[in-house]
Amino acid sequence: MNLRVPGPTPCPPEVLQASARQMINHRGPEFKALIASCTAGLKRFFQTQNDALILTGSGTGGMEAAVVNTLSPGEHILAVTIGVFGDRFASIAEAYGAKVTRLSFERGQPADPAAIRQALQKDPAITTVLVTHNETSTGVTNDLKAIAQVVRAADKLLVVDAISSLSSIDLPTDAWGCDVVISGSQKGWGVPPGLAFISMSARAWEANKKARMPRFYWDLARAKKSGDKGETPWTPAVSVMFALETALQLMEREGMAQVFARHERVARRCREGVKALGLELFARESYASTTVTAIKVPPGVDGKQVSQAMRQDSGVVISGGQQDLEGKIWRIGHLGHVSEPDVDDALRALEQALVKAGFPAKKVAAGR
Ligand SMILES: *Cc1c(COP(=O)(O)O)cnc(C)c1O
Repeated sequence: MNLRVPGPTPCPPEVLQASARQMINHRGPEFKALIASCTAGLKRFFQTQNDALILTGSGTGGMEAAVVNTLSPGEHILAVTIGVFGDRFASIAEAYGAKVTRLSFERGQPADPAAIRQALQKDPAITTVLVTHNETSTGVTNDLKAIAQVVRAADKLLVVDAISSLSSIDLPTDAWGCDVVISGSQKGWGVPPGLAFISMSARAWEANKKARMPRFYWDLARAKKSGDKGETPWTPAVSVMFALETALQLMEREGMAQVFARHERVARRCREGVKALGLELFARESYASTTVTAIKVPPGVDGKQVSQAMRQDSGVVISGGQQDLEGKIWRIGHLGHVSEPDVDDALRALEQALVKAGFPAKKVAAGR
């Protein structure tokens, strides 16, 4: 099976073996060593000196933790959204009573930093900006560096969903001034689902002291206090942490710059392959994601039928569109433990399924 969805991603065999290890006491010395090594590795990939906490939960849990630990009910915030995950971030903040201004951009487009500046000027009461780094639902990567500059200049708190980018796409947390950054184990880290990672700047901890949204399981002050003792407040997903430790070692061996470069290479190959089939990319290449490629389903083709044929005939599993984009796009995940043959295989399966569906897929370049 070639699992080409944008998370969960295939895990390297060493990572799977690590996750099969016998349990340890999560209040004992073995765990202290494990959490120390995982945290150090994460901080290198987060490129931060800030606190980085490991939470047991999915990425959405990390997003909720970010919201409830920095905000109060009634607080004015700006939620920048370019897709399903940006919308989700706004919805979480609304669920806890924040006064959310949604700044939405057309699906397939990135956020415009100038529009963010204007929105912040329009409501000076806004304290915090929520933004998605890499919008997995549309295959678009925001210009986070430019967005962060705008948010820093306005002196607001910047909270970033980097769930499908961190580890795969360069995100210098401290250099760009991102206050809270969230990621999830099952995306580019090549680890099974079950952990969320979150970094907190000094400014974020200041906000945390004043934040009045209700919290218990996701209380990050509590997580930090336990973390300082080499523990977590609650029983963590120990097996996933075993896996994470090994995955981080593999990534360090490859080198961070090399990991980013590999994602760029594989993504470019995917986009070239898509175009060679006579298909159209959903997002412009200048801001297309290097972790997930969205492809327009051509008119007259049943997108679902094609992805079903890919799975049944070739063992390749891709994603469709979500919500408004259901049936309109396909999404190929290429993040984490991925290399050129994986996307080649997926494109071959796509070509076969298209031919089967009667779409005249152009013959792909020789050598693939
Ligand atoms: C996957 C994803 C999420 C949600 O993560 P879960 O682990 O499914 O809760 C949120 N944001 C982005 C950008 C994602 O890619």
